[in-house]
Amino acid sequence: MATISHWQADAPSVASSEALPSRCDVAVVGGGIAGVSVAYWLRQFDPSLDVAIIERATLAHGASGRNAGFLLQGTDADFARTVEERGPDIARRLWQFTQENRDGLIDALSEADISLTTSGSLTVAGDEAEDARLRRAAELLRADGVEVTYLSPDQANKRIGSSGLYGALHVAGGAMLHPVRTVRALVGHSGTRIVEHHAVRSIESTGDRVRLVTSGGTLEAGRIVLALNAYLPRLVPDLADRIRPVRAQMLATAPQPIILTQPVYSHEGYFYICQLPTGEVLLGGARHLHRDAEVGYDDTTTAPLQADLEAYLRRHFSGLAGAEVTRRWSGTMGFSSTGLPLFGEVSGVGKVWWVGGLTGHGMGYGFRMGRTVAAVVLGESDPFDSLFRVD
Ligand SMILES: Cc1cc2nc3c(=O)[nH]c(=O)nc-3n(C[C@H](O)[C@H](O)[C@H](O)COP(=O)(O)OP(=O)(O)OC[C@H]3O[C@@H](n4cnc5c(N)ncnc54)[C@H](O)[C@@H]3O)c2cc1C
Repeated sequence: MATISHWQADAPSVASSEALPSRCDVAVVGGGIAGVSVAYWLRQFDPSLDVAIIERATLAHGASGRNAGFLLQGTDADFARTVEERGPDIARRLWQFTQENRDGLIDALSEADISLTTSGSLTVAGDEAEDARLRRAAELLRADGVEVTYLSPDQANKRIGSSGLYGALHVAGGAMLHPVRTVRALVGHSGTRIVEHHAVRSIESTGDRVRLVTSGGTLEAGRIVLALNAYLPRLVPDLADRIRPVRAQMLATAPQPIILTQPVYSHEGYFYICQLPTGEVLLGGARHLHRDAEVGYDDTTTAPLQADLEAYLRRHFSGLAGAEVTRRWSGTMGFSSTGLPLFGEVSGVGKVWWVGGLTGHGMGYGFRMGRTVAAVVLGESDPFDSLFRVD
């Protein structure tokens, strides 16, 4: 059975959609954070462009409306591991990219109500080895001038009212937002057309333009950007070896007395928990305990994984363990072959670009990624394009 996230229920869809136009300059397919960010930046670079976002359901229907709302810096791995695996230069550039993502998004939406919390984020270790890496990450980041603090296990558990967790890294720039409102606000600020309930079925070249065949008619565009994340291989099968669908699940509780004022990412990001100012606790993760089951496109929750989420509460946040669970949901992420977002040109068609593979970190990448992709689509360069571009 299809699920609905806390955010989607909290911000029901509004009638913003237009009829499918017959022509536009650029069609962006997919109304998640990546698609709306590409559209936003296209119009920032050239306000005269007629840009249409084509979405098969409603804006933020996919992972962008089903996540935990964490706006973090760095990749989904801790900084020490990113340095080990990718080298210090790339690790630094990735941090800078996500810092620009955070700052740019907050700046662009400074007037919008996106329930933004900017009290920092905590990455908490689930064991001693992770604790040691977080201590190392703190040293490396401080040396680069990033505002971070390492908390000992005692300090960390005291800070978040938990037990049995190890040390933590507090990143001052970490933030939280309402992802559905964020996606909608970006569209509102971009002045693009929104066409919802139109699934794109195929793409054909017409010579100087490209034709999109949708469930509700056809559209000819000068250029197309496919921002479909996990769904890219369905339209472009050649991308199946670059991007694969991976499911993530969450739950929400009834309002509880406030104990968490920052988003908490623990056990190498395999668990994530936060509390809204209204008291609801949102908890997700446990995917690593169910790797074989948590793949594919099924929008459903499973009893064994949800039981592991509740076991996490009992083990580490006993004060929350009896809280009534009011909602459970799932979302489909697009995991990339490199662990980083990717973009490129669809081979053999011309004028068609794709972006996806935002993994479990798309709110941390998506807005800045939109800028990179929009620049390249318009024939400009971007300082970060070589980090993510595949051709
Ligand atoms: C449970 C969960 C928790 C997460 N927590 C976080 C977090 O706290 N912080 C973070 O940074 N990231 C998090 N993520 C990851 C993040 O949500 C994703 O990386 C990000 O939303 C991907 O954005 P996107 O725009 O690329 O893809 P999506 O949001 O999936 O957008 C793709 C869109 O394409 C549409 N579409 C598909 N096929 C078609 C078609 N044929 N025609 C037209 N439209 C189509 C879909 O309906 C969808 O709206 C989480 C993900 C999940 C599932």
